[in-house]
Amino acid sequence: PTFESLGLSAQLVEALAKNNYQTPTPIQHQAIPGVLQGRDIMAAAQTGTGKTAAFILPILHQLQQSPAKVAHNQARVLVITPTRELAAQIYDNTVKYGASLGLNYNVVFGGVKINPQMQKLRRGTDILIATPGRLLDLYQQNAVKFNQLQTLVLDEADRMLDMGFIHDIKRVLALLPEKRQNLLFSATFSEDIRELAQSIVRDPLQLTV
Ligand code: AMP
Repeated sequence: PTFESLGLSAQLVEALAKNNYQTPTPIQHQAIPGVLQGRDIMAAAQTGTGKTAAFILPILHQLQQSPAKVAHNQARVLVITPTRELAAQIYDNTVKYGASLGLNYNVVFGGVKINPQMQKLRRGTDILIATPGRLLDLYQQNAVKFNQLQTLVLDEADRMLDMGFIHDIKRVLALLPEKRQNLLFSATFSEDIRELAQSIVRDPLQLTV
């Protein structure tokens, strides 16, 4: 298959061609059509499989198709990931594929000053990539709101549990609108992850690569 045949917009296909992406990887092949249909996803995929593009590309496509204005401090898509390195990588990929779409992307993580992050969030964010602790800090400061949130991505869920983020994750989940699309990625699916997943995804497409 080609990226075009998976249903992605001409603009995205062009951005991929520029980056020398010829063929979708197996996780992209499996996940992209499902995400575009609005399905929840539960995917077992390791780093290196192309999983970031598997969720970011269809999300960019959806945002492009429904160009709602994002209000002050709101976020339309939230990607939660355990480490600042992963957050920065996902942000770089998002900008790489989505630079021409006129959307607003932000990344926030701990260990750096919070004020510049608060300022960037003010005008509203189409895709916000965050680590859990800093996200909650920003919420408590009223710098980010979720009234317009339509999609949640939990990336590397197993690592988030290993790093002790379960309570932070549950606190974030309680802040989100109930009606939303959920994409959950994990390298492994232990009992713990399955239990967490059950409280998040609804009738998910289950994928393994
Ligand atoms: P990830 O698993 O998301 O960390 O991606 C692993 C690497 O593969 C990243 O450097 C991506 O830029 C690259 N990549 C992802 N999808 C493709 C693709 N379809 N063709 C070529 N490279 C890709």
